[in-house]
Amino acid sequence: MKCFYHPEKDALGTCKNCCKGICGECIIDVGNGIACDDACRDAVNQVNALVDYNKEQLKNIPKSMSFITNTGDINKNSYLFNAYFLLSLGLIIIVLNIYLFVKNNQIGFSFVWMGTIGIIFILFSFFSFRNAKKVGNAFAAIITDEEK
Ligand SMILES: [Zn+2]
Ligand SMILES: [Zn+2]
Repeated sequence: MKCFYHPEKDALGTCKNCCKGICGECIIDVGNGIACDDACRDAVNQVNALVDYNKEQLKNIPKSMSFITNTGDINKNSYLFNAYFLLSLGLIIIVLNIYLFVKNNQIGFSFVWMGTIGIIFILFSFFSFRNAKKVGNAFAAIITDEEK
């Protein structure tokens, strides 16, 4: 192959951008290849920058995955926290209610509404436990999908 610009000279290689044959006089070294002129050198540099950028993005994938992991854990833990909080609050109210009932030995108005509030708290704690389990399962499904 001859040089595209100097037909009398043998080409030493081809431009990485336009694939023209280039001689030793025309060659511009771009590090991982050669270019024939400034425009081709710029084009090759742009492609190299794009490749480097994509390599960096690939490196960042485990980081973004751990972000998903953390979010899943935080959601599950906040549901679990709510669940335990509501459950203990409900149990405290009911124990207190039973204590007051035994002490006063009569079913008063406060016995009914305190008991109701206690039962509502315990009910909501079960909803939170269920949500925590749901979030945990959904997250497990995401992880297994990612690993496939
Ligand atoms: Zn070129
Ligand atoms: Zn040349």
